[in-house]
Amino acid sequence: MSETKTLLDRNRAFSNTFEARDLPILPKMRTVVLACADARVDPAYFFGLELGDAVIIRNNGGRVTPSVIEEIATLAFMVAMMDGENRQPFELVLVQHTQCGAERFADPGFQKALKAKVGVDVSAVAITDHELSLQDDIESLRNAPGIPDYVVVSGYIYDVQTGQVREIVSPAPLSQ
Ligand SMILES: [Zn+2]
Repeated sequence: MSETKTLLDRNRAFSNTFEARDLPILPKMRTVVLACADARVDPAYFFGLELGDAVIIRNNGGRVTPSVIEEIATLAFMVAMMDGENRQPFELVLVQHTQCGAERFADPGFQKALKAKVGVDVSAVAITDHELSLQDDIESLRNAPGIPDYVVVSGYIYDVQTGQVREIVSPAPLSQ
């Protein structure tokens, strides 16, 4: 069984009232949101994002990994090229959430089994303390040569029980 019929039916309904054909490539809010891939944690919903507002990157845990750094460095490079002389702010919003599966990654038994069966090492993205992980992730961004230090970064935790986002790290350029 496949869910694609439902997906395509919903897409027909979506495209029937589609009016977003002339959106610019650069997101209107000049913002990248990094969040967990968890189906309950969709930034478009809880931040009320419209098409074209922001770039959303999602992975397990919403953690800053080497591949996330590559994605953001590439985006920042493209934005800087498109801005030219007229450089404008560029923002990165990190969102972790309660009841995250990445908290299970912290279990040594889980880590060992995953490594043995799938060859994936999740020790670097395991979450034991969300505030600490957010601070670690911001430090990783700060230490990444490809991420410009004028990028403004902030960190949040989304509560899957209330739908509320709590600020952990207020927005500041990486250079600070
Ligand atoms: Zn999660």
